[in-house]
Amino acid sequence: MTRKRAIVIGSGIGGIACAIRLQSLGFDTQIVEQLADVGGRAFVRRVDGFTFDMGPTVITVPHFIEELFALERDAAMLDEPDFPPAVLAEGQSLCPGGSGGAHTRRYVDIVPILPFYRIYFDDGTFFDYDADPANVRAQIARLAPEDLAGYERFHEAARAIFQRGFLELGYTYFGSIGSMVSVLPDLLRLGAIQPLFSLVSKYFKSDKMRQVFSFEPLLIGGNPLKVPAIYAMIHFVEKTWGVHFAMGGTGALVAGLVRKFEELGGTLRLNAKVARIDVEKRGRQRAATGVTLADGEVLPSDLVVSNADYATTYLKLVDKAHRRINRDALVRFRKQSMSLMVIYFGYRMQAGDPDLRHHNIILGPRYEELLTDIFERKILAADFSQYLHIPTITDPSLAPPGHHAAYTLIPVPNNHSAIDWDAVGEGFADTVLRFLDERGYIPDLRDRIVHRSFVTPDYFEDVLGSHVGNGFGVEPRLTQTAFFRPHNRSEDVSNLYLVGQGTQPGGGTPSVMMSAKMTAREIARDFAIDPQIVGGRPRVLS
Ligand SMILES: Cc1cc2nc3c(=O)[nH]c(=O)nc-3n(C[C@H](O)[C@H](O)[C@H](O)COP(=O)(O)OP(=O)(O)OC[C@H]3O[C@@H](n4cnc5c(N)ncnc54)[C@H](O)[C@@H]3O)c2cc1C
Repeated sequence: MTRKRAIVIGSGIGGIACAIRLQSLGFDTQIVEQLADVGGRAFVRRVDGFTFDMGPTVITVPHFIEELFALERDAAMLDEPDFPPAVLAEGQSLCPGGSGGAHTRRYVDIVPILPFYRIYFDDGTFFDYDADPANVRAQIARLAPEDLAGYERFHEAARAIFQRGFLELGYTYFGSIGSMVSVLPDLLRLGAIQPLFSLVSKYFKSDKMRQVFSFEPLLIGGNPLKVPAIYAMIHFVEKTWGVHFAMGGTGALVAGLVRKFEELGGTLRLNAKVARIDVEKRGRQRAATGVTLADGEVLPSDLVVSNADYATTYLKLVDKAHRRINRDALVRFRKQSMSLMVIYFGYRMQAGDPDLRHHNIILGPRYEELLTDIFERKILAADFSQYLHIPTITDPSLAPPGHHAAYTLIPVPNNHSAIDWDAVGEGFADTVLRFLDERGYIPDLRDRIVHRSFVTPDYFEDVLGSHVGNGFGVEPRLTQTAFFRPHNRSEDVSNLYLVGQGTQPGGGTPSVMMSAKMTAREIARDFAIDPQIVGGRPRVLS
């Protein structure tokens, strides 16, 4: 029997994960990537002896990675348990000592990071955040003793949200409004629908603790003031399965995934920009028949999965005549996530360097007001918060001897703003690096720096092809969550699917791996893949 062909547009982590699953479902799968290398947001910049991961650095839920590396050809295992069987007791870790399972270790070495984050406040005090409840309580007692009792209550609320929202519903594909309505009463009962910051503010009185327990959605493009409190689950996801790092950088993880895909028989084409998803009219139906590349080459296939930005996929790749839904209006109506300025820099080590951690969150003087400037007013404020990543603390091989490789990431408005990044980018980068130097995070940085480069929202728009330079797809907020988020199975064109951060369930590396599994399940169902291969019927709520 001839094997069916699948094309995946884009080699982001979600695209590669979906391609691995399609290959193991029995499709002959090809990834076509417009850039010269793989990874999308997880692209690697190698320059002057430094290796900079350009995007994701915080690895969570390592068993999602293990699941991908365990897949075999023609044995899709879509019915493997989505999560380890039980929620762990306090203090237990699923991966004592190391992170990756046996399959992962054949491709990449993943190690746990402690603390998860050091969170600096503007007054110089800091909070070391990890999974150990005794440590978390000690930090609260040091900084905000009045919030100790509130923390215990928040912890229980977050645990309940994690249990229902992640362990039980995490893999639910919300293909219809009915599927969403059926879970609403539970989410209301858990308080998971109110804004996260409101939930956190109920339990914590101090501004510092409110920031510590609400900032995390920013790492996936969510505004803590708007993102639904279901995102309190992130706290528990990290607590349960830890925060990890791929030795060699996230790029080493991406390279491992590509190797796995190729070992399963999949093929990869770089420098191959898709100009159009080809669609054929079949009676009243429209079906994807392949893609046309920018140079005019036609690649036929039985199904197409787009890992490109959701808005770009519909507005630029699918001809208007084939759209059943008014996508222009829908894209205008939807809110795109914030964007980022990311400054990559290498610097000489110096005796007596301050005691920074691998992951440092450096909060500015304002929180709610700054979030409003970024997400709503869309202005570049004079103050900023940042995430300073120094991976050479864990893996010195990422820089020449005696040097650190670092990046600092600053949330900024997407290109719906009036900011001219060509005009202000350099100056803003100077301001941020001067701040790190003068505030003593990296003293004398400007004298020690040997490499500096940066990206702005224009990179996300022009290079990665993200609508208005969004950093994380459509913004995660209640009206853009679950059923209300773009669907993984196109409603306009049959045999067209989407995967990645713009789709269900959302952004971040664990979510895009979940999205890959959800999309693969939809495909398995549509193509009536032999349940023997799938290992049971895919579970779908629709
Ligand atoms: C700076 C930064 C830091 C982050 N940090 C973290 C973190 O620490 N932890 C975490 O979990 N998440 C983090 N995230 C989020 C995470 O990186 C993303 O959610 C995830 O990597 C997105 O993957 P994706 O599969 O949606 O595809 P993307 O990475 O968006 O890739 C899409 C791919 O499609 C390609 N493409 C687009 N159009 C075409 C076309 N027409 N033809 C061919 N190819 C095309 C693009 O070139 C790109 O390679 C971070 C994101 C950023 C930007």
